[in-house]
Amino acid sequence: MASKKVYSICGMCTVRCPIEADVENGACSFIKGNPHAAGIEGAVCARGSAGLALINDSERPRFPMIRAGERGDGKWRQVSWDEALDYTAGRLREVAEKYGSRSVLFSDRGGPFRDLHQAFVRGLGSPNYCNHDASCARNVQHAALSLFGFGRKHVVYDLKSSRHVVLQTRNIFEAINVKEVNDLTTAMENGCKLTVIDIRATVSSSKANNFFMVRPGSDYAFNLAVIHVLLNSNLYDEKFAQLWIKDLNRLQEFVRPFTPEWAEKETGASAEELTSFVRELAGVRPAVIWHPGWMTARYKDSFYVCRSIYIINALLGSIGARGGLPFANKPGDVGRKGLKKLADLFPKPEEKRVDGVGWRYKRFDAGPGLLHLAFKAIDTEDPYPVKAYLAYRHDPLMGFPDPDALKAIFRKLDFLVSVTFSWSDTAWFSDVVLPLSPYLERESILACKNGLKPYFFVRHRVQEPRFDTRSDWEILCGLAKRLDLSPLAFESIADIWKYQLEGTDVSVADFAATGMVSLAERPLYRTMEELKFKTPSGKVEIISDKLESEGLASLKPYEAPARPAEGMFRIAFGRCPVHTQGHTVNNPLLGEQMAENVLWLNKTVAAKMNIADGEEVEVASNGHAGTIKVMLTDFIHPEAVFMVHGFGHTVPVESRAFGKGVADNCLMPGGLELWDQAGGAMALQEHFVAVKKLS
Ligand code: SF4
Repeated sequence: MASKKVYSICGMCTVRCPIEADVENGACSFIKGNPHAAGIEGAVCARGSAGLALINDSERPRFPMIRAGERGDGKWRQVSWDEALDYTAGRLREVAEKYGSRSVLFSDRGGPFRDLHQAFVRGLGSPNYCNHDASCARNVQHAALSLFGFGRKHVVYDLKSSRHVVLQTRNIFEAINVKEVNDLTTAMENGCKLTVIDIRATVSSSKANNFFMVRPGSDYAFNLAVIHVLLNSNLYDEKFAQLWIKDLNRLQEFVRPFTPEWAEKETGASAEELTSFVRELAGVRPAVIWHPGWMTARYKDSFYVCRSIYIINALLGSIGARGGLPFANKPGDVGRKGLKKLADLFPKPEEKRVDGVGWRYKRFDAGPGLLHLAFKAIDTEDPYPVKAYLAYRHDPLMGFPDPDALKAIFRKLDFLVSVTFSWSDTAWFSDVVLPLSPYLERESILACKNGLKPYFFVRHRVQEPRFDTRSDWEILCGLAKRLDLSPLAFESIADIWKYQLEGTDVSVADFAATGMVSLAERPLYRTMEELKFKTPSGKVEIISDKLESEGLASLKPYEAPARPAEGMFRIAFGRCPVHTQGHTVNNPLLGEQMAENVLWLNKTVAAKMNIADGEEVEVASNGHAGTIKVMLTDFIHPEAVFMVHGFGHTVPVESRAFGKGVADNCLMPGGLELWDQAGGAMALQEHFVAVKKLS
């Protein structure tokens, strides 16, 4: 029996952990974490282990398809790759000729391989590359930019060396990143404390030393009181503040009224416990991480929650510190050259972005734009028409609110393409489905992970595709060839890797031993004096001229969140450890672990409504309704209900996921218009639902 080990990269979620795959007679037989990767310790999570079930699953797009009926009818014509790529290139060309190159929109889910996608969009001559982040971490990104002049990935979370970790908008033990889970577990074994602030008790809170259950939408009040205590009791890092914080006096003045007693009335969290928690933090500063969050597209003030978190970290001296949020190093920081960018094969388009980012909204980061505003432009044709849309491994009909409204917008497109390895509502609604090989069956472009010790990594193909599917580079380079984008019309992945490695002193052979090439001997930390902020003043800017010049407050007064009407609840959603949003729900192994979502409902409230544990109820909002089982618990705030995101699939060919559970985004009518003006992300938890007993 021929057997080998292949180093590759997991693709079951966006974290992309390094893996080692066993291959027997050409077929993958086992997956584990890459033992050479620091912090992975040979582990993958439940989803990572289920990668084999993904390749063995036949209920996924297995060949290229062109729509044969109306959009969404599910009538398809199986075609060859040549026909699919010729057709796609032809339709893109038609749209570009009629409306200009800028009328093509592309979205993906970001990540380390996006350079290839950005190159393709640039090659087309369109400025409209977007990712999903308007429904995820844009508020964090913009909060970091407004204070530091650099984005959220300029710092890393030094969990392993931390003495106290605070999770407020992050649920590390359920929205899993293997290295983060391992590092935090190790730190906690060594005495690191964990505090969780949430509207419900999560697995993370079950492991915490402190848990504050706060009223939904009141996080900003909690944080203002924390800043109040830090400043009023002189618990902050004076040296850091003197060196690096501008306008500290304005902050001090601003937070004066926001005492712990005031916050207790807003949040429900005990003033005494809040004060003693802040003292605990100050006692171990700067080795403190108050995580600024990941999926923060939740409330209208989530940007200010993220901003207040970064301010707290700065006051604790944690920004740049060991055990806190040290600066990530790029190859250049450790004397090495980075990968050559594929996007540089083409000039940057001069056209303005259709979402208004960078010109109508100067405060926002132009990189991946704001996809909900691009969707709005499809609808309004303001500032110009967008008539073709490529959704790459992205399902906005599941990830964005109000899918009915979004479908009405998509109907205005001349052409909609999905590149995907799993069925999704968006793929089902597309004109063409270009089936992507699952990650074990494809190689990807090389990528770089910045960090304390930056490294390059490679995704190798573990086994040949079972069906007529292709790698991303084969699809995009195949389209590039047909669209006369010759610089991107690579014939092989080896040619792409060679191009990327030019000038780096690294060769493809260097990846053979471990799948990675480290660019530094040891982790590189900076001293406090060595830090550099990219703001106009070179300091942490409490008052941001960029925000103020666009009429937004740097220090926004607190506004109490709306209370739900009688019988209504604020809808909250989140992750569980066995699913990654929608795309794993039909996975045979993971579906078996959790086939449907349930509705968390506060026990005391349920008793008043005469609802029993496990009973089916109707959950509804503005004409959208679903039936779902309830899970009664004391550990959710009475004003909210919660469900795991990604359920309620409507694609009939997904036999295991079809009709199971409820999709939270269907319960958010008008949600495309509801977004955080300062941070750019959508406000997905500003919706209220009615819960009704069925019988
Ligand atoms: S966290 Fe799990 S699913 Fe995500 S990349 Fe890592 S092993 Fe894969």
